[in-house]
Amino acid sequence: MDKVCAVFGGSRGIGRAVAQLMAKKGYRLAIIARNLEVAKAAAGELGGKHMAFSCDVAKEQDVQNTFEEMEKLLGPVNFLVNAAGINRDSLLVRTKTEDMISQLHTNLLGSMLTCKAAMRTMIQQGGSIVNVGSIIGLKGNVGQAAYSASKGGLVGFSRSLAKEVARKKIRVNVVAPGFIHTDMTKHLKEEHFKKSIPLGRFGEALEVAHAVVFLLESPYVTGHVLVVDGGLQLTI
Ligand code: NDP
Repeated sequence: MDKVCAVFGGSRGIGRAVAQLMAKKGYRLAIIARNLEVAKAAAGELGGKHMAFSCDVAKEQDVQNTFEEMEKLLGPVNFLVNAAGINRDSLLVRTKTEDMISQLHTNLLGSMLTCKAAMRTMIQQGGSIVNVGSIIGLKGNVGQAAYSASKGGLVGFSRSLAKEVARKKIRVNVVAPGFIHTDMTKHLKEEHFKKSIPLGRFGEALEVAHAVVFLLESPYVTGHVLVVDGGLQLTI
């Protein structure tokens, strides 16, 4: 039976690139996002054996239903990637409470819910989880306090869970990207940020995906935060 990898946020950007790499390696992919049509298109381009699911990670019932469906249709999920995420950038004094909540619910609570739902199977069979954080969760940034809180929280959550479940042969790691070319950053002017990035450019989704796949498949690495930022952390 194929090994199954669920990628939340796998329909676009970094998650989609992870799904492409994992499909090439022979895994069976579950591509999960809110927009089912886009998720179906992403799954379709990987080939016949992969499937798409619609789910809002911020909603517990949605997450539970999605795990039930995935396990019924694809089999046990032993590889989990949390790449679903949003940003609502603004200075704290101008940030609406609903935007704080939506970032915390999608970026932090969402990953906590998917990890919890995955435990049922993983506790029996082992597993590997990669949560996609952000360099902003480690360093902070003007205009991103709520986003940074959600991504910083994800590090604490992932390291704690790594300790809790290591004895069950479940590993939990984080990849913390810098600026990456995706829909999330398409409104940013690369020229403006380039000078603070030692490698002098934004990264590509595939460059982050390689780090995610490395951690998914590294049997002796857990509780690690792998920064993939072109050296940005050296300058900010
Ligand atoms: P994109 O906007 O390109 O893709 C986001 C993905 O998440 C889509 O598949 C989207 O599908 C899905 N998604 C968003 N909200 C939800 C939700 N509530 N439930 C389920 N799926 C959801 O973003 P990126 O690929 O750039 O970002 C991926 C991750 O990487 C995010 O966590 C982001 O914070 C993080 N990151 C990105 C950086 C960058 O520079 N791009 C830098 C650092 C971190 P749909 O809208 O259909 O739900």
